[in-house]
Amino acid sequence: MSAAVVLATRNRKKLDELQRILEAAGLDIELLSIDAFPDAPEVAETESTFAGNALLKARAIAQSTGLPAVADDSGLCVDALNGMPGVLSARWAGGHGDDEANLDLVLAQIEDVPDRRRTASFRCAAAIALPDGTERVVEGSVDGELLRERRGVNGFGYDPIFVPLGHDVTTAQMSAEDKDAISHRGQAMRALAPVLAELLGT
Ligand code: IMP
Repeated sequence: MSAAVVLATRNRKKLDELQRILEAAGLDIELLSIDAFPDAPEVAETESTFAGNALLKARAIAQSTGLPAVADDSGLCVDALNGMPGVLSARWAGGHGDDEANLDLVLAQIEDVPDRRRTASFRCAAAIALPDGTERVVEGSVDGELLRERRGVNGFGYDPIFVPLGHDVTTAQMSAEDKDAISHRGQAMRALAPVLAELLGT
């Protein structure tokens, strides 16, 4: 029998990505969207770490639905900005999810930073919480460099200026499959698969 897990996101792409990864790992897990639970709370990301926020969301959704819940939190950490925007990546320029304004603000903030110091990483934490209080968190990250101008139209967020180490294109110039194979979220989701297998006994 397959186990059901609620994914604490309204982002259909994240749900499809995790479902693909779980299937590739041979796990019989049915992922449910949070949209199927209209009474589930909107959880504010108030922690100072990706792991803290992912756990916060997974815990709240597991408690409210009574089902195992998975949540993730991710962002861009710019070395010349001491790791920011970090957990504030989605709302760096003020409005939540204004990708264009967020990217423009980061570009302006590191305008005077020389090329050799324009290093950054995308990081992601993925957490699972069970209704009985069991919790686990895994992480993934990808290092790279930030361009001065946008390149590519795929992806979202800061992808148009992020060139992963060892590549000569931005993550916005990669196909979804190529990005998944190296991305912080892809790594975290793949690391989560054996944890889900262990905790859910599938
Ligand atoms: P969240 O994990 O969906 O809350 O994402 C937080 C924010 O981090 C997004 O709004 C983006 O600004 C940024 N971000 C996270 N992952 C990526 C990525 O793969 N590419 C580009 N930006 C990302």
